[in-house]
Formats: sequence, structure tokens, C-alpha cells
Amino acid sequence: MTALKGSLRNRFLLSLCAVLCLALLALVAIARFQIMPILLEDEEAYASAELDRIERALGAELNHMRRMVEDWAHWDDTYDFVQGLQPQYVDSNLYESTLETLDLEMMVFLDASNEPYWVVGYNEHGEFVSCPGSMPPCDWASASIAFLSRYVAQGLDDATHTWLLAAPELAMAGLSPIHQSHQETPATGWLAMVRPLSEPWIEQLRDTTGIELELSPVPVPAQESAAQILDRTSPTHMTANRLIPALPSSHALRIDAALPRQRYQASLETFRFALYWTSGVLIATLLMVLWLLERMVLSPLRQLATFTQSLHQEAAPPAMPVSLLARHDEIGTLSREFSNLLDHQRRQSDLLRDLTLHDPLTGVANRRLFDQRLTELLDHSGTHQGHAAMMIDIDHFKLYNDHYGHQAGDVCLVTLAQHMEAQLEPRGFLVARTGGEEFSVLLPNTSEDEALRLARELLEAIEALGLDHETSPTSCNVTVSIGIATLQANTMEPGDLMRAADQALYRAKASGRNRAATYRALDTTFGPTTTLDS
Ligand code: GH3
Ligand code: MG
Ligand code: MG
Repeated sequence: MTALKGSLRNRFLLSLCAVLCLALLALVAIARFQIMPILLEDEEAYASAELDRIERALGAELNHMRRMVEDWAHWDDTYDFVQGLQPQYVDSNLYESTLETLDLEMMVFLDASNEPYWVVGYNEHGEFVSCPGSMPPCDWASASIAFLSRYVAQGLDDATHTWLLAAPELAMAGLSPIHQSHQETPATGWLAMVRPLSEPWIEQLRDTTGIELELSPVPVPAQESAAQILDRTSPTHMTANRLIPALPSSHALRIDAALPRQRYQASLETFRFALYWTSGVLIATLLMVLWLLERMVLSPLRQLATFTQSLHQEAAPPAMPVSLLARHDEIGTLSREFSNLLDHQRRQSDLLRDLTLHDPLTGVANRRLFDQRLTELLDHSGTHQGHAAMMIDIDHFKLYNDHYGHQAGDVCLVTLAQHMEAQLEPRGFLVARTGGEEFSVLLPNTSEDEALRLARELLEAIEALGLDHETSPTSCNVTVSIGIATLQANTMEPGDLMRAADQALYRAKASGRNRAATYRALDTTFGPTTTLDS
């Protein structure tokens, strides 16, 4: 578990996931704080443009009203009519179908003293009424007429005026001074026309503008300006409204427009599409990076790590994988250098082991190796019987040293050791220097007779070397004495064997040197059973 947590792959995976999350967070933050405000601003501009369009449409209607009221007010017949010179004017012009055709609710003629001269319109019951002044049956219009008279009395300039009316009901009004068609004489009164902004009229405005809109009168709050307010609670539609000035001034006309959020939705969709693709590409890139890392770095590193772990786990360490050594990158260099280091270290270890297991003067095995091999032999062969050992001691070597010098003594030791090794090693016997001028030979699977035969051969060969030993009482050449012991019982231990060989050597020395003697471990007498004279 710890290895998994600590693995480079997992660390990379975690780091890349963190990078991915950060990148996605950044994308979301960009969307939230950069893109969304732009989209909303754009939507506000769109709503504002649409409200402008509605206002322009209303303006066009007011212009139409202006032209119409002007046409009637600048007609000579009207001029004469308000001066009482055209009594047939009413019958000729002011009948019900005139109002229907002009889509009007009321026409009011004021005379030169701003008093109502004639009123024509529909009363509160929807009945057509045409009468002079504001007396019954035209008293229903008295409020409007009073408002109009007051308005005119304020001193309006000699021009045509149009307004939107918010009270008592939604309407549009036009007011024009009554002139002769040539405008040579001063105005002689006013003509007012009122058109109701009825549902059919609003429906027509909807058709003209293509916008789902509503018009409603609202009281003007104290400090509110003609602001545009957006409601974006629905994802598909928003409502925008705007107050536009109307009469009376305590009221305003509110345009409510239900506008589709297509542009916003489309932009949002495009942005989402881009976001998903960006995220997808990001994830794909990171996965690709991870895959490349895995292929190029992590997998070979893991191979190298597995190899290094196997070095101390297995008895026979494996060779460095060829695929790692053949790489031309840093991992290849690392693998090659590591392999070289490993070879060097193995050579050093071999050398060190060699030094600890061999005698530095003669180069043959030392006591440690001898004991080790003897123990191994007894442990692995399954039986302690049928093996033999020799203990070899140079005769009168002290005298040799005294006579020829210590250095010559060393040379003699080396010559004898190598000679014995050359003779016995090829047959699978181990020669070791186990004392100053004392050697031991391990003879696996060798009977006592065979050991004796080998000892005899050795004695002859050493004497035949003809190494001078002038001061030796035994011979004029360097000679050795050999003690032989064989394992005769499973109960015998390595130490017993060598003690027996030492005893046999003692016997050989005591019997006159330059000879071999055997020792039988089972003999209770502990004495030599065979003595070979050289
Ligand atoms: P014996 O026949 O009874 O074995 O007599 P010896 O003189 O060989 O035996 P002793 O134990 O009296 O003397 C052994 C000598 O071996 C003494 C020592 O100077 C010599 N010797 C031991 N190790 C070395 C060595 O490494 N180099 C040399 N040159 N001489 C050594
Ligand atoms: Mg000795
Ligand atoms: Mg000796």
C-alpha cells in the first residue's frame, strides 16, 4: 500500500489530476467572471434595442396621430366650424363611422376662448354621442375637457402636440391649434383627438414589432427614472420593461416586453460546447502525457527498481535487462553505469572473499575455507563416513629457516604449497595452509587405503622436488610428515577428524618423520594402525 502511494506513477497521476482540476476550475472561473458578464451585457443591449424599437413604433403612431389632427385642424371647414360659420359641419363630418375609421374615441373642438365648442365620442356605455359643450349628454367628457382646457390655458405654443395618456385609461392624444389652411390668420381654437390604446391596437403593435409586449399605466415613483429593468428568471425568456413619460405627469406608461433569450442561449451553448471540448482535449492531453511518461520513464524506472530489488532477494542475482542497457537516454546511461558499478562491486566482493578464504603467502586455501568445506561436506553428503583428511607438517622447518633465512623459508612454503595443490586439486581435493608450516588436505569420498596411497605419492613427489635442507637430520632434502584420519562413524564431528589427523601426524613425527601415519577414530587406543616409511 505504501509502495503504491509512493510510486512515481501515482504521484504523477495525483499531480496531473490536480492540474486538471485547477485548469477546469480556471475555465469555470473564466466562464463565471469573464464570459457570463459579457453575455448578460449583450443581452441587456439586445433588450434595450428591442425596447427602443417599441418606443419608435409608439413614436410612429404618435406621428401618425399628429398628422391626422393637423389635417383636421388646418382644414378651413373646421376653422369656420369653431367660429359658428359651418353648422352643417357636424352632419357632414362628425358621425360615428368617422370615429371608427379614424380609430378615435373622442374629438373635442375648443373655440378661441378655449371653451368646448363641440364634443364627439363614445360615452361610458360605449354609445356614440355628439353634442356641443360638456353639458348632458356630453357630461361624461367633462373631466377630459376640463383637463384639456387647463392644459391649453397654461399657454401652449402654437404647434401640434401629441401625448401618451396613462389615465384615466391608456390612450394617445393629439392637440393642434385650428388654423386656416394657409395659416395666415391666428389660431381660433384647438382640436383634440383621443385614440384608446385598446387590446386590438396593442395586438397590432405586437404584429408590427414582432415583440410580445404589454402596455400599462403605472404611477411614477418619487425618484425612479425611466429605467430599463430585466427579469431573467426563465432560461428561455426574459422580461424587460421601461417607463416612458405620459400624461398626467404623476403617471407613466410601462412597456413590458417578453423577449426570447435565443442569443444568450446560443452563446451559452457555444461556450458550453467549447468548454466541454476544451475539457476533453485537456483530459486527453493529460492522459497522453501520463501514457508517454509511463512508456518512456515510469515503466523503465520500475524495471530498474525491480532489478535492484531482486539483487538482494535472489541467491543468483539476474543480469540487468537488455532493454534497459540498450536505451540511448538518461535511463540507459543510468542502467549502464549501474551495471558497471555492480560488476565492479561483484569483482571487489570476489576479491575480498578470495582474500578472506585464501592464504596470502602461498595462495592456497586457508583454515577458514578448509573448515567451511569440511563442514559443507559433512552436512551435504548425508553421511559422516567415507571421507578422509591429511595433516602435513614440514620436517625441521625451524632448522631450515635458521639455515637459509626466513625469506627462503617463505619461498619453500610457497613451492611446497603450489606443488601439493597442483597434484591434488585436479582430483577434487582441497589443499589448505592451516598453520605456519602446516597444511591440511580434505579428501572427500576417499577410503583410508586410497588416502594412504595418495600420501605416499605426495611424500615421494616432495622429496623428488629436491629442495635442499642441509641441516635436516631426516634427509638432505625438504621432507614432510603426514597424518591421515578417516571418518568411521556418523557421530564424528569435523573437529574430531582433524584432532585424529593431528594425532596421526604426531605419530608420523615420532616415528622418524618423512612418513605418513593413519588414525582410526574408533580405536580406543588412539594409536596409529598403519605406518608407511618413506
Ligand atoms: P618438526 O619437524 O618437529 O616439525 O620441527 P620444526 O622445526 O618444523 O617445528 P617447529 O614447530 O619447532 O618450528 C616450526 C617453524 O616454522 C618455526 C617457524 O620459524 C617456522 N615458520 C612458521 N611459519 C613460517 C612462515 O610463515 N615462514 C617461515 N619462513 N617460517 C615459518
Ligand atoms: Mg609444525
Ligand atoms: Mg614442522
